[in-house]
Amino acid sequence: MKEKKETICKLNKGRVWIPKSMRKHFNTNAVILKEADGGIFLRPYKITCVLCNSTEEIDYIKELPYCGKCRAKLAGTPGKD
Ligand SMILES: [Zn+2]
Repeated sequence: MKEKKETICKLNKGRVWIPKSMRKHFNTNAVILKEADGGIFLRPYKITCVLCNSTEEIDYIKELPYCGKCRAKLAGTPGKD
C-alpha cells in the first residue's frame, strides 16, 4: 500500500485547517473526529439534506441542512404540500 504524504497542521485556537486539495480530493463538506489508539482520526463526512439525503448545495434553515432543490421547493410552497 502506498503511503500518502503527511501534512502538519498547526492548531489555531483549537481549529484544524484542512488543505483545499484534500477537501477537494475527498469531496466533503464535514469531517468526523474520533479518538483512538492514542491519536485523533479524522474521516470525511457528507452532510445530507434532511428531506432527500442529497449532498448538493447544502445550506441551513433553522439549523437543519437542506439541499438547493428542497430549499427552492420550500420557498415556492405557500404553506401546504
Ligand atoms: Zn433535499
